[in-house]
Formats: sequence, C-alpha cells, structure tokens
Amino acid sequence: MLFLNLKSLQKNIFKEGSKGAFLVMREFEKNIRKVKPYVPGEQPRQKAIKLNTNENPYPPAPGVARALKDMDAESFRLYPDPEASALVEELAGYYHVRPEQVFVGVGSDDVLAMCFLTFFNSKKPILFPDITYSFYEVWAELYRIPYERPALDAEFHLVKEDYYRENGGVIFPNPNAPTALYEELGVVEDIVAHNQDSIVIVDEAYIDFAGRSALELIDKYDNLIVVQTFSKARSMAGMRIGYAIGGPVLIRYLNDAKYSFNSYTMNQASLLCGVEAVKDKEYFEEGIRKIIETREWAKRELKELGFHFTASQANFLFVSHPAYDARELFEALREEGIYVRYWGGRRISQYMRITVGTREEMEALFSFLRGYIMER
Ligand SMILES: *Cc1c(COP(=O)(O)O)cnc(C)c1O
Repeated sequence: MLFLNLKSLQKNIFKEGSKGAFLVMREFEKNIRKVKPYVPGEQPRQKAIKLNTNENPYPPAPGVARALKDMDAESFRLYPDPEASALVEELAGYYHVRPEQVFVGVGSDDVLAMCFLTFFNSKKPILFPDITYSFYEVWAELYRIPYERPALDAEFHLVKEDYYRENGGVIFPNPNAPTALYEELGVVEDIVAHNQDSIVIVDEAYIDFAGRSALELIDKYDNLIVVQTFSKARSMAGMRIGYAIGGPVLIRYLNDAKYSFNSYTMNQASLLCGVEAVKDKEYFEEGIRKIIETREWAKRELKELGFHFTASQANFLFVSHPAYDARELFEALREEGIYVRYWGGRRISQYMRITVGTREEMEALFSFLRGYIMER
C-alpha cells in the first residue's frame, strides 16, 4: 500500500522527459510561503575545537548550575509566567531601566524576528549593511519586507550617511558580524537621530567585548531598540535567551505581537537560569576580561603569521591571508577537527571568522597554522 502511494506520488512530482526527470509543481505549492533559510554554523558530532559559532568557551555563572540542580520537575506541570517577570525585572535592575522597557525572547534571534514583524511594516525598504548578520536578509524575505543594503566602506566600517534617507527602518549589529568592527557611540547616535520617523534596531550581541552601548541613548530617542543576548558573553547559547530594551511604547508593541504569536516563549528553566546569570556581575566581567586578553594575544600571533585582520572588538576574529586561499585553509582546518566559519561571497571570499576560544584551543589553532604555512 505504502509502496503504491509512493509510486503515485512520484508520478505526480516527476515526469520523464527527453532531458530526464523534471519537477512538476503541485497546485498547493503556489500558496506555500517559501524562503531560503538561514544556515547556522556546524555543530560537530565528534570532539572538535569549535571556533565557528562565537560561543563562549567558559561555563555560565556557577549560580546557573545551582539553579538547575535545585529545579523541581514538578513545576514543569504548569505554564511558565507569560510575562517572564523575574527575568525582566532582573534585567531592568541590571541596566537601570524600568521593567516596561524590557522584552525577553528565545534568544535574540527570536527577539529580532519579533522586531522585524512588529516594526518593519512599511512599503519603503529597510536598510542594513551589505556585509552583516545573514539572518536579517532571511527575515526580510520571510516577512516580505523590502530592503536595501548600503555597502560598508573599504575597511568594512559603516558609512553613516548612507542611512540618512527615507526608509522603512534600520538595523545593524554593533560590533558588526562577521567583520568584528565596533562603531563609536557617536556614529550610532547620528544614525538614530537622522531616522526619527523610523525604528532603528541596534543588535548588540557582542557589545560586552567592545565599547559603549546604545543603551545610553534609550531615554533620549523613542525610535531606538537595543537587542542583546545571553548566547555570547553570558555563555548560555544553549538556553536561548535574548532581550530588547527600548521605550515603553515600543516594548508594548513588541509584547502585543508576541501575545498574538505565542504567549509562553520563555520556559521555566530559562527563566530561573537567566536570573542567576544576570545576578553574578563579577563572574560575567571576569569571563569577558579573559576572552579579551586571549583575543589580543591571538592578534599578535596572527600578525606574526602574516594574516590580515580587522581591529576586532568582539569575541571573534575576521582574518585573511595574502598567500593562502581562505576556503582551502578553512577546509584544511576542518579536516584537522578545528572548526571556523567561512561564507565566501563577493567581498569576503578571502576571509574566515575565528571565534576566540580558550588559550589552549587557540594554541592548537596556531600550532596547525604554523605547520600549514611552513609546508607551503
Ligand atoms: C549570535 C548573534 C545573534 C543571535 O544570538 P541568539 O543566540 O539567538 O541570541 C544575533 N545577532 C548577531 C549579530 C549574532 O552574532
């Protein structure tokens, strides 16, 4: 029976022509929302040195492990708090804002997707850089939002004047990914100030490794949303927690969209662990200090090996070598069990992105690179 069904299905989909099998579109296909999905970095199954998705090499704050241990599975019987109040209040306290200014979601990807849905609802194109987090284009396509992508300058910096024109909204990360470059707060403020008729989203996934945050501007501009995440500096990518901070009016619109989609985005375990992570400021700052120290040491090593790289202010390095093809090097590293990220594409075909791991992981990377360069 199953065999027969499969046969008839195949007959529907494929027709043998003189040039071989070709696809025949079924009627329902016309009404399906199709999108080319975001491709996440590889999560290798076997033991590897994983420097490809900007995770933190250190464990989360010790309070997170304690919270997990004390967790009562009985509590999972009930729905979690739809307002995620405990986490919202902890974050509000940490950043000296009011709880009405904080929105939490399942990783900043969820928060950003909700922001696209809520704020980018114009017929005018939204603006984001030509080289940036590749998810922006995916969400724009998914929600059918028109977009334009002003080019970063030759050094991969944002050209702020390109954002001084009519638009349906603006989004960029600071520091930018995968370039790792931080724009001074003045540049960010100029973009926000020139766009008071649209919403400007600053994606600060890596801000804790860099400089001043646009959170300083939150009370001055009611068109600004700052998005951050627990996935990088807070070592909790697996827990999926992100948040947006902005004026209470924008946060209310975000919540309206969320409650129209899924009231319980934040699970009980994430809420408890998230609160513990925010409480431990000292541990958080120490972890960042260690990563920055390793990053600056890694820059010196890269320089010695003849690599070119941007002035990273994130927990990753964007590197290129004048003598070696980036894709070949990426593949040689992978063969060796060292995972970094490579995209290819017009302006960045000779670049790889390397997450800053522990000193030991980076030593292993450099030991391989030294051998690779000597051999050729
Ligand atoms: C990692 C990253 C995110 C998403 O992180 P989540 O794990 O979903 O919180 C968002 N924006 C940028 C630029 C990132 O690099």
